Amino acid sequence: MDLDYDAATIRRLDKDHVFHSWSAQAQISPLPIAGAEGSWFWDADGKRYLDFSSQLVNVNIGHQHPAIVAAIQEQAGRLTTLAPGFANDVRAEAARLIAEVAPGDLDQVFFTNGGAEANENAIRMARLHTGRHKVLAAYRSYHGATAGAIALTGDPRRWASEPGLPGVVRYWGPYLYRSAFHATTEAEECERALSHLRDLVAVEGPQTIAAIILETVVGTNGILVPPEGYLAGVRALCDEFGIVLVADEVMAGFARCGEWFAVDRWGVTPDLITFAKGVNSGYVPLGGVVISAEIAATFADRPFPGGLTYSGHPLACASAVASINVMRDEKVVENARRLGDEVLGPELRALAERHPSVGEVRGLGAFWALELVRDRATREPLVPFNAAGPAAAPMGELAAACKAEGLWPFVHFNRTHVVPPCTISDDEARAGIAILDRALDIADRYY
Ligand code: PLP
Repeated sequence: MDLDYDAATIRRLDKDHVFHSWSAQAQISPLPIAGAEGSWFWDADGKRYLDFSSQLVNVNIGHQHPAIVAAIQEQAGRLTTLAPGFANDVRAEAARLIAEVAPGDLDQVFFTNGGAEANENAIRMARLHTGRHKVLAAYRSYHGATAGAIALTGDPRRWASEPGLPGVVRYWGPYLYRSAFHATTEAEECERALSHLRDLVAVEGPQTIAAIILETVVGTNGILVPPEGYLAGVRALCDEFGIVLVADEVMAGFARCGEWFAVDRWGVTPDLITFAKGVNSGYVPLGGVVISAEIAATFADRPFPGGLTYSGHPLACASAVASINVMRDEKVVENARRLGDEVLGPELRALAERHPSVGEVRGLGAFWALELVRDRATREPLVPFNAAGPAAAPMGELAAACKAEGLWPFVHFNRTHVVPPCTISDDEARAGIAILDRALDIADRYY
């Protein structure tokens, strides 16, 4: 189907009829996009952008990978829809492959259409498995925009939806640069974050707590890499009190952190892992929960009270099978790890040396953030927390400068995240960082 609309027609139809996420409808003017390939996409006027956002940090394998496009086309010719109560080859194979790359005995997969639904169902499983109702969820987290997932979310996106889900109790995770515990070293931050969580479990009553949910590496709230020992400590706490550990790897999983799942970096096995995005790079909507043998056994003779019409959709599963196979054949996980160690990490740290406004550089794999400040000593953010409108202007100027030079950045509050496809070449990554380098002169002017 080629509608052959020009950019002005797309803009007009979009404005009249498309209701966009997270936006005041009258205040936005989305860029009409004509196509994409690899690490690039281009607009209807032919201007090309290097995608340092991977859209919403989901295009891990790059845009329009031919093997995945072909798998979707081939599947569309065979079977385009199938109710969840049936079995078929691509659904079975997608689940088998996901179980194969998942740690430990996480061997069964409940398919959803995205990340929020995965978290909803993980919490449902944890509550039914334990017979308890509370869920401990972190500040500075994002778990999705459906009713339960937004209630688990620990950032301002939840405010308009409060009071949300009963039984959600909030805790502080580790974040040394802005420590909630006044820690000064990684080891101290780790120890105090674990001790805080242990205290919280005690005062809430362990017998009431079904799950602790965390983003293994926190994504949109700042690419917060946990200190050594933190995940193992949370795992031990969960084991001690029979609490289900849910790792939300919707953003961190499938090569983003240079591992199949980010937990592999620390050798920790959660009870449930939620995934979406990178599993098939979002070519067709897909998410899910990978389930441990113990939790799966709970539902062996007892019905699981949840389901979705499109659970295990054939086009989504075919694209996941192709994507995981491509990741293996083309060593995408290894490439992301090498990219982080040899290109993104060193080059971004060099930016911090040149630009006083860069307060901290952190990340791993193809998952990095630059946190921008007005003053390195006080760490005052370049724009205030939750800044919008004129208060966010410095970051808006920085983003505009990147876009003018053909780099599509991922800007959130006082941070710019560097989250390109995990398949980006070293030269492309360096070219993007050179544009960022020039744009950071703008941030320095506010320093
Ligand atoms: N969990 C995390 C960590 C995410 O980053 C996101 C989306 O960005 C979600 C859950 C929600 O996923 P979805 O938008 O597919 O519902």
